[in-house]
Amino acid sequence: MKVIIVGNGVAGQTLAETIRRNNKEMDITLFTEESHPYYSRILLPHFVAGNRTLENLYVRKKEWYSDQSIRFINATKITKIDLGEKKISSAEGDSFPYDKLVLSVGSSPRKLDFGNPNVNLQGNFALRSISDAEQIQHYAKKKPVKRAFIVGGGLLGIELGFHLRKMVDQVQICEIAPYLLPRQLDRETSKILQTYLEDQGLQFILGDSVEKILGNNSLEAIRLQSGKEIETDMILQQLGIIPNTELAQESRLNSQKGIIVNEFMQTSDRDVYAAGDCIQFEDKIWGIIPASIEQAKQAAAHILNENPEPYTPSIWNTRLKVAGIDLTCIGLSSPEAEEGATLYEYRRQDTYTCRKVIIRDNVLTNAILLGPGADSKFFLKKAGKEVDPQEVKEKVKE
Ligand SMILES: Cc1cc2nc3c(=O)[nH]c(=O)nc-3n(C[C@H](O)[C@H](O)[C@H](O)COP(=O)(O)OP(=O)(O)OC[C@H]3O[C@@H](n4cnc5c(N)ncnc54)[C@H](O)[C@@H]3O)c2cc1C
Repeated sequence: MKVIIVGNGVAGQTLAETIRRNNKEMDITLFTEESHPYYSRILLPHFVAGNRTLENLYVRKKEWYSDQSIRFINATKITKIDLGEKKISSAEGDSFPYDKLVLSVGSSPRKLDFGNPNVNLQGNFALRSISDAEQIQHYAKKKPVKRAFIVGGGLLGIELGFHLRKMVDQVQICEIAPYLLPRQLDRETSKILQTYLEDQGLQFILGDSVEKILGNNSLEAIRLQSGKEIETDMILQQLGIIPNTELAQESRLNSQKGIIVNEFMQTSDRDVYAAGDCIQFEDKIWGIIPASIEQAKQAAAHILNENPEPYTPSIWNTRLKVAGIDLTCIGLSSPEAEEGATLYEYRRQDTYTCRKVIIRDNVLTNAILLGPGADSKFFLKKAGKEVDPQEVKEKVKE
């Protein structure tokens, strides 16, 4: 059987690895538009700041693919799927037949439309790939950049800001919500985190956004919606993602916000699967690595004819990876003790510690674990499962 996978991010790579581990015979071809083997996007902020080399980013070397008898075709964009003939075509016009096709084409950064022609000013970036990181690095050195302005106070905006601060004199992060990490935190925890980050030299503008970027050839300043103008050398837009649905839409696979899949990761054509940032399942898109891995494994199990149980997504969880402070979040939105729910809390000001855990009907549904010492492994393992409230109470205070 011929399996073609389009996209070698964590979803495509996990798929190829899972299939090969369980079946040595299947004919697997993995395409990527990028010129690199599988690499870690998590490390890109470190790479931008010069703390990692390109080689350090690679999780797999090019030889790995031939060792595994996986045909790896890089620097090749797939532009067309012929569902009737069961073949795909590249931008160069080459065709490749498949029995099963997997779209693991990921997502693109959401960007503000500043109104042309300013959108094309040099110095306007979003970090998603090695190529973006190289362009940011090159620009920062050449200019040289002394002040950076990040739009988006989510996990990625904060992590990038933290690393950039080691390179440039001033980093400002602008978040449209009234507090940082609005998807994960409540105001109180967010404020504690903000204080820590301010102590590390980051500056924040909350409840505002960028209306326009100003300059001649390259960026000179930004104008906020509030009317305030701020001089800066570089803007980085880290505003979340838009699933890449273009290829699926062009071939009339059902897509809305993302490529629509069923509980086995099949699209509206049952021989075409999709997994990772590009999918929409039960009206949701994920945009995180653990979900991409789960979905890729589910698609692989179905392709391998293993009769998997229908997919039930794990509870959303994220971590902030900034030196000196731990933050793990389980579930979305701020934990509030609604009716039928119990909130367990613990705070310690001197160490920026704040833990809030919610249990509903004996099931652990939400947790915010900020600061040192929390047993985040315990809470991640118990997420969405029945727990002993006494044990949770003790763990929160431990
Ligand atoms: C800087 C950064 C840090 C992050 N940190 C974290 C983190 O700490 N924790 C976490 O959970 N998540 C993190 N994420 C999000 C995480 O990286 C994504 O959820 C994950 O990469 C999704 O994997 P994917 O395989 O679905 O898509 P992607 O990683 O986007 O891979 C898709 C690949 O498909 C290729 N492709 C697309 N279209 C085509 C085509 N037509 N033909 C050929 N190739 C194509 C793309 O070029 C790309 O290489 C981070 C993201 C970034 C950008």
